[in-house]
Amino acid sequence: MTETTTAEAVETAWPEGVDLRYLTLVGATVDLYDADESHPAACLGCGDSASETDWHQAKAWAQSHAERCRALPRPTTA
Ligand SMILES: [Zn+2]
Repeated sequence: MTETTTAEAVETAWPEGVDLRYLTLVGATVDLYDADESHPAACLGCGDSASETDWHQAKAWAQSHAERCRALPRPTTA
């Protein structure tokens, strides 16, 4: 597989520890981490965050937040 797809580009840009990533409608991401006893999630658009002990609840928060959040991600400086 030599072609660089959009999916591959997104995958390689994932920060360390991110286990799931949801894309918001404006291009920000809601990152979900898988820790030992908690599953913190953070929106890189608005900065909102949550931490659930239940993996499914953490996923539900990240999914629903990604569906509603309209905050743009802060531009990265190259
Ligand atoms: Zn947000």
